[in-house]
Amino acid sequence: MNGLRVRRWPTRGPIRLVGLTGGIASGKSTAARAFRLLGCPVIDADRVARDAVAPGTAALRSIRDAFGPGVLRPDGALDREALGQKVFGDPGALARLNRIVHPEVGREVRRLVAGALARDPDAVVVYDVPLLYETGQEGAVDLVVVVYVPPEVQAERLSARDGRTPEQVAARLAAQLPIQEKAGRADVVLDNRSTPADLAAAVTDLVRRIREHNRAFGG
Ligand code: ATP
Repeated sequence: MNGLRVRRWPTRGPIRLVGLTGGIASGKSTAARAFRLLGCPVIDADRVARDAVAPGTAALRSIRDAFGPGVLRPDGALDREALGQKVFGDPGALARLNRIVHPEVGREVRRLVAGALARDPDAVVVYDVPLLYETGQEGAVDLVVVVYVPPEVQAERLSARDGRTPEQVAARLAAQLPIQEKAGRADVVLDNRSTPADLAAAVTDLVRRIREHNRAFGG
């Protein structure tokens, strides 16, 4: 048995856009790779967000106008550290930043999804978005998939991968919605306590079910 747990299956229409999320170091990138190997186009929300504020973009100009030239590095790129200090603990400033960045990211994600579906109308597109719940995007996808491991496994894998101290690990875990809560709200849970091969098998099983489901809608 692999780690696929279906909690709720949508019935209204075909599943074109899958939201892939989870906790830090729970295995989202590992799962995304498995989806990609099965031919699913994957949209990386972190990359879209980075590109949205690249030098020369309207969003970066708006950020400079709102927060001052101190949030840019000498080469003109965004100084994330400096910007983080301006918005950390200031909900008004954070909201202002989100009002600049979120619409740009949303537009670009919609453009990428439309492009993938234009290339292949039967595609199952995966939107890899670590903060799906924190940013209220669950309604924008057809199926929410949470890659789950218990917090102690998250902590272990995080410190093994990034060499962080237990204090740093605890702080990063505390900054996100608890993973149990995400799993409790998911349509589908991919339990990643076992091996990466088992996770890939669960993804294969899920994609097979989605494609079967979509065939019932003619796709
Ligand atoms: P982040 O939130 O930091 O982007 P992530 O959710 O994308 O992380 P991965 O990078 O896929 O998580 O996995 C975290 C670490 O755990 C990586 O070093 C990965 O190789 C390892 N890992 C993933 N799945 C397993 C597994 N089933 N068994 C052992 N190690 C694993």
